[in-house]
Amino acid sequence: MEPRHPEHWSIRIARPGREPVITDVRPAAAVCAAVLALVGLVAGVRLALNHFERTVSGFERTVTSERERNAALEVQAGRLLGKLEQLEAEVRSLQRQANLAPTIDATGQGGAGGAEPGAGAGMMLSIANLRLDKLSKAMRAKKTIALALAERSARPAGLPVVGARLTSGFGPRRDPVMGGVELHSGLDFAGPYGLPIRATAPGRVSRAGWGNGWGQHIVIDHGYGFETLYAHLSRLEVRAGDSVGRGEVVGRMGSTGRSTGTHLHYTVYLDAQAVDPSPYLGEAPPVPAL
Ligand SMILES: [Zn+2]
Repeated sequence: MEPRHPEHWSIRIARPGREPVITDVRPAAAVCAAVLALVGLVAGVRLALNHFERTVSGFERTVTSERERNAALEVQAGRLLGKLEQLEAEVRSLQRQANLAPTIDATGQGGAGGAEPGAGAGMMLSIANLRLDKLSKAMRAKKTIALALAERSARPAGLPVVGARLTSGFGPRRDPVMGGVELHSGLDFAGPYGLPIRATAPGRVSRAGWGNGWGQHIVIDHGYGFETLYAHLSRLEVRAGDSVGRGEVVGRMGSTGRSTGTHLHYTVYLDAQAVDPSPYLGEAPPVPAL
């Protein structure tokens, strides 16, 4: 007996309150339609999944690149803070050398050392910004400080001769050669002939030779208005144009020129005016390394 194959299927679509729709379809066509619908559904789901995957991986890429960008910014901010701290330390050191009150706290702003690593680029940059303001003021002061230090290092200090005794001070005195009253423009130190005479500050020899009653003499220009004169020397150890350091031997004690005995005449000039050298005989300050 042959299996029964219906020639067509009746599909009845019920419509409440209305007549039902009845349509006849061939079984093969119905199966084909169902298979096609299934294939379409699978393809649609796959497409949707692909799109979702692409979206997710795009988002992951964005997150990763943001994280990398933040890390790079953090490194930059860290470097900036490090540089700031270095500059602050320089300014503090200069201020210490110049005996000036510090304008930057040793602890800095917002805690010592600024932001902790990993504090985030934004946070680190705001801290750097705060500190930059204070620092820029300090940097402006740095010029003044450096000038003050250079001026201090140019200032004559210490004795021009060791092993001699002070025989005549600065100011009015009886002229030892002509009699009468003269203004003694410096200090006289008496000692043995040939005693080494030393520069009391670094500078450049502006004069080395004979003249003006000073006999053999040396003038050193120290800059910042300071000059020193060493007179009545028996011998010159430097020439005009030479650079000399503090304590360097520039000549030997003698009695050349207008002199009554072996001695050194020492004058300190400030802005071309002879001033009393006594306040300049104290110990030389340490020369800062600038
Ligand atoms: Zn003198």
